[in-house]
Amino acid sequence: MENSAAMRTWLDDLGLDHPLVIAGPCSAETEEQVLKIANELKDTDVNYFRAGIWKPRTRPGNFEGVGALGLKWLQKVKAETGMKTATEVANKDHVKLALEHDIDLLWIGARSTVSPFIIQEIADELKGTDKIVLVKNPVNPDLSLWLGAIERLYTADIKNLGVIHRGFSTYEKTKYRNIPEWQLAIELQQRFPDLPLICDPSHITGKRDMIFDVSQTALDLNYDGLMIETHFDPDNAWSDAAQQVTPTTLVQIMQDLRIRKETDEAKEFNSKIANLRAQIDVIDNTLIDTLGKRMKVAKEIGSLKKDKNVAVLQNNRWNEILGKMILEGEQRGLSEEFVLKMFKAIHQESINHQEKILKG
Ligand code: PEP
Ligand code: MN
Repeated sequence: MENSAAMRTWLDDLGLDHPLVIAGPCSAETEEQVLKIANELKDTDVNYFRAGIWKPRTRPGNFEGVGALGLKWLQKVKAETGMKTATEVANKDHVKLALEHDIDLLWIGARSTVSPFIIQEIADELKGTDKIVLVKNPVNPDLSLWLGAIERLYTADIKNLGVIHRGFSTYEKTKYRNIPEWQLAIELQQRFPDLPLICDPSHITGKRDMIFDVSQTALDLNYDGLMIETHFDPDNAWSDAAQQVTPTTLVQIMQDLRIRKETDEAKEFNSKIANLRAQIDVIDNTLIDTLGKRMKVAKEIGSLKKDKNVAVLQNNRWNEILGKMILEGEQRGLSEEFVLKMFKAIHQESINHQEKILKG
C-alpha cells in the first residue's frame, strides 16, 4: 500500500473547509426518529448521516437493530434532506443490501475488525467499489489487526478507504468506555499519512460530557474528522443513551472546537508544533497514570510487610532495581544521572506510601 505524501483521497475531493463530520443516531429506531434527526442535521456542517441498522451487541437481549428495513429509511433521508448516508456492515449480506440501497459510506465495526474471516468476506463482496469504506479499530489494541483489515480491503481494489479510531476495551475500569491509546492511532497515521483518520469520541468516552475534550485532542493530533452519535432524545435512545448528544449540542461542539488549518508555512509550523505537543500530552498522561499504578502496587506490598512485620526499606531489592533501570535507561539514551534522580524520587514516594500504611 502506498504512503506517499501527495496522494489525493476521497476526502480531498469533498473539498471541505472543516473536519469531516459523520453524525446521526447510534441505532435507527423508527422511520420518524431517523427522519427527525436527519432534518435537524441537514443544515449543519454534518457531511454524512449515520445510523446503525444491524447492531453488534456484546450481550444478547439488547436491541439488535431494525435490520434491512432501516435501509429504506436511510434512502428516505437522502431523498428528503439530500444528506449522504452511512451505516455499519458486518457480513456479505449486509454489504449486498447496503449497496442495493445506495448507502454512500460503509463502516466496519470494532467487533468485525478483529476477525480476518469476516473482513475477507466483506472485502470480497465490496470488490472494486467506489463507496467510502471506513475501518474501525479492533476492540483490542492490536495495530496489526487494524492494518491487516485495511490491507485486505485495499487488495480487493477498494480505493476510498479510511479509518475510525473508537478506542479499545480494557479489563481495568477507566474514565473512558474504551481507552483511546492515542499512540496506536498516531503510529497508524505516521505509517499512512494519506489514509483519512476519523475519531469516534462517542464510543471512546461513553459519556456525552467528555465528547468535546476527546474531539479537541483528536483535532490537535491532526485527525481528519469526527463521528459523533446524535439523537433528538439521547436519554431515551434504544442503544448507547449515555453517549449521544442532541443536534443542538453537536452544533455547539463543532463551533467551540479549535480547528487548525495548514494553509501556509507559519500555519504548517504551528500545526506541527500543536501535533507534537498533543503527543507529549498523551505521553505525560501515560507517565502519571503509570506512576499512580506503581504507588498502588507499592501500597499492597506495604500491607503485606505490615502483616509479616517486615522493614519497609529493603536495600538489596532497591539496588537491584536501580542497576536494571540504569541499563534500560542507557539503551534509550537517558543519562545515568537522570535515571538515578528520577528513581530516587519514585522510590521515596513509594516509601512514603508504604509508611502511611505501616503507621495507619
Ligand atoms: C457504532 O458505531 O454504533 C458501533 C457499534 O461502534 P463500534 O463498532 O465502535 O462499537
Ligand atoms: Mn453506538
